[in-house]
Amino acid sequence: MKKYNFNAGPSVLPQETIDNTIAAIKEFAGTGLGLMEISHRTKEFDAVMDETVALFKELLNIPEGYSVLFLGGGASLQFCMVPFNLLEKKAAYLNTGTWANKAQKEAKLFGETVEVASSKEANYTYIPKNYTVPADADYFHITTNNTIFGTEIHTDLDSPVTLVADMSSDIFSRPVNVSKYGLIYGGAQKNLAPAGVTFVIVKDELLGKVSRAIPTMLDYRTHIKEGSMFNTPPVVPIYAALQTLKWLKALGGVEAMYKRNKEKASLLYSEIDRNPLFKGTTAVEDRSLMNICFVMNDEYKHLEEEFYKFATGKGMVGIKGHRSVGGFRASTYNALPKEAVEALVAAMQEFEGEKL
Ligand SMILES: *Cc1c(COP(=O)(O)O)cnc(C)c1O
Repeated sequence: MKKYNFNAGPSVLPQETIDNTIAAIKEFAGTGLGLMEISHRTKEFDAVMDETVALFKELLNIPEGYSVLFLGGGASLQFCMVPFNLLEKKAAYLNTGTWANKAQKEAKLFGETVEVASSKEANYTYIPKNYTVPADADYFHITTNNTIFGTEIHTDLDSPVTLVADMSSDIFSRPVNVSKYGLIYGGAQKNLAPAGVTFVIVKDELLGKVSRAIPTMLDYRTHIKEGSMFNTPPVVPIYAALQTLKWLKALGGVEAMYKRNKEKASLLYSEIDRNPLFKGTTAVEDRSLMNICFVMNDEYKHLEEEFYKFATGKGMVGIKGHRSVGGFRASTYNALPKEAVEALVAAMQEFEGEKL
């Protein structure tokens, strides 16, 4: 049976990414060897790295003065690398969920952190709006898409200090005005590639300002200087990321993706709002285009498990909500076809027909 992959991460990738990566694992760039068996210091892999960086910059319209890095350690390592490199005295954090909390926890090891606002009291069902970022903070950290709670910051915020963003789960889902950010990072395994590579977009002039010593591997300047090849980079995930970027470009880039994502999300949110069995879990204006969370209306709560089985029987994969929210979460990343959302909506309507 056809499966519809709504997994939150690792998650669905374009078929081209998978096919092209398999082909390169078998035989890479006419070398007669597989991608996993060659040195990263070959002209063939150099070309992959250069093209990936170039396409990353082109598709996100990254201005001069920024570097793009591909590192190991996941977004979670960035929670500590960011303060290691940028926090001298004080950093501001917006608490919008689990990942935002984890980021702030690491920063506390390096200096003072100010939580400018939090939606914790409402189980992170909205994005706080009216808050003041201290003008003497070294940076202001946000999580643009809250993968677990299904909220998203839909615009590029104005910040009086350097803006740092975890964009693990919404990178390349919409156009971003990179010039408003000092640093953007994320794990690749939501919208780009298999797990194993982390992207960092950093404004060069921000580095080298803190007074502490930084271990070589954790210093962004090391990786800028060595073109993300100070040590062996995760070659297969980087190759896969390049295939996804090529796919994205062929489809019209981030503008086209944004349009597609809005269409998919609107299809599902409309059904959640229309169908008397279901309701959304977050403030409407903060609804994520990438992770769509919903639960059963109170009077139908007892049907939750049954709907889960019903939908699973129709090919839906990965729609169980995170344990801290419950209900359902359908992740609708770039590579998820509209057809999958249509199938989920059809399942919701069919279930409604059976029960009401
Ligand atoms: C998945 C996720 C992370 C964690 O990424 P790792 O690469 O597993 O460390 C961090 N932030 C957000 C917003 C995520 O969705």
